[in-house]
Amino acid sequence: WKNAPAHFRALLTASRRHGERVFLRYEDERVTFEDHFRRAAALAGRLAGEYGVAKGDRVAIAMRNYPEWVVAFSAVLAAGAVAVPLNAWWTRRELAFGLADSGAAVLIADGERARLMADAGVRIIVTRPGGSVPPGAAVLADLIGEPTGEVTLPEVDLTPDDPATIFYTSGTTGRPKGALGTHRNVGQAPLTVGYSLSRGAAMRRGDPGRASGRRRVTLLAVPLFHVTGCFGSMLSAMFGGATIVLMYKWDAGQALRLIERERVTGVTGTPTNAWQLMAHPGFGDHDVASLGTLFYGGAPAPPSLLARIRDRLPGRAPSNVYGMTETSALIIDNSGGAYPDRPDSVGRPVPVVDVRVTGPGGAKARPGEVGELCVRGAPVVGGYWNRPEATAESFAGGWFRTGDLARVDEDGLVFIVDRVKDMVIRGGENVYCAEVEAALFEHPAVRDAAVIGVPHDELGEEVGAVIHTTPGAALAPGDLTGFLKGRIAPFKIPAHYWFRQGELPRNPGGKIVKDLLRREVLGS
Ligand code: ATP
Ligand code: MG
Repeated sequence: WKNAPAHFRALLTASRRHGERVFLRYEDERVTFEDHFRRAAALAGRLAGEYGVAKGDRVAIAMRNYPEWVVAFSAVLAAGAVAVPLNAWWTRRELAFGLADSGAAVLIADGERARLMADAGVRIIVTRPGGSVPPGAAVLADLIGEPTGEVTLPEVDLTPDDPATIFYTSGTTGRPKGALGTHRNVGQAPLTVGYSLSRGAAMRRGDPGRASGRRRVTLLAVPLFHVTGCFGSMLSAMFGGATIVLMYKWDAGQALRLIERERVTGVTGTPTNAWQLMAHPGFGDHDVASLGTLFYGGAPAPPSLLARIRDRLPGRAPSNVYGMTETSALIIDNSGGAYPDRPDSVGRPVPVVDVRVTGPGGAKARPGEVGELCVRGAPVVGGYWNRPEATAESFAGGWFRTGDLARVDEDGLVFIVDRVKDMVIRGGENVYCAEVEAALFEHPAVRDAAVIGVPHDELGEEVGAVIHTTPGAALAPGDLTGFLKGRIAPFKIPAHYWFRQGELPRNPGGKIVKDLLRREVLGS
């Protein structure tokens, strides 16, 4: 076991220490640490055996949030192969891109995606068939059965620097890029989350989860195919012996029922998830006393969210964290008692990460000056799979350029200002969309807002805003202009508004897909 990958050694420890504890809970199903460990080892054996999967080969996973997703992930890494989680929301074309781009030889998929990709030219292992099984595909349950007896792993010579994962970025600013992570990154990620969790817990007085000595039970409603779900939540639970309550998809009402029924102690998700949970009309009908933390990141969290949480869940300390696919989940965190002091900040980098802000030409910015955020350290991957140019552009000189604009103050607190690509330059003045969005959010009739650049002959760009209005609210552009005066400088106030009743398009990571919105409202 000494050469087994880090996550498998953690799994071994967990199954020896508390094998009968529930690791994964999904609807009425329960998978113990012992069950999971055995299934993952058995699948690793089959992959290495009859599937001929060898060290460095890529194995794709295309599944919704089922317990088998976790089995597949654990097994692929233990076989020495590279796990390629594909976005389960993707269409057939997008999934085909993921398979071709990664060069995966085997695909582990749920029934729906297995049927979609039946003629993609890869060998398929199906979980949850729920219908016809594509010709030639094997069903996971038939392949491994209920493994008993001695547990063995394929013998592979793995080092911490061997590749382990290719996670695709969300594709918010272009074609998704595969971030190539190593076993060291995989082993580091849960330690980083653990650090952040304990910082939150240490500063939180009267945490019901801790006070009663209860084990951590985490509600996982974000997709496992993103680093937030897989690293930020799942691996951290695997390493910590915690129970995961898996949700097929996010639904605030269902989440409240599960929190009550499973005595959930923490929820990991996006700021939108947290907001919907707090705003749900049924909130007061549920006993959520077990809930000690809300852990969110992946998109800007408006300071009003914290106020709402403190009102709904007094005495709890939520965490606002920043990270990205390329950094194996969170690397900067605002947790515990520090968060209420600066709800507009994402906090400080975790101890194994360095940050710096660079201006044009790569010069180091002064404290408080806005520039591109660059990071380095143990959780940061070494580059992109199959994208030498993007790797050269973003990973030069030992620092990773995040593509986000930020400033760091004298105390080392990091403030995310906007994405480099989102910023609107209006007549030479920089307008940060995120700042305008945060100001719009304060208006009670605004449910959601996205600010975009609108082409303008003289100014280059003007500021435009797409607004999802609160049901029943009547809003006119003049109302918002009046509201924003005094909150933000006049040149930042949108010149165009589009109002809509429906939700803004967000991807599974909780990010507004602005490309789509631009095409919708501007036709370009
Ligand atoms: P792509 O790189 O393909 O355009 P993406 O950057 O959206 O997609 P992810 O890696 O899922 O893909 O998301 C990382 C980004 O999410 C960060 O670069 C940042 O813009 C945003 N983000 C993450 N956490 C926070 C946070 N706490 N506050 C503000 N923005 C955040
Ligand atoms: Mg990105």
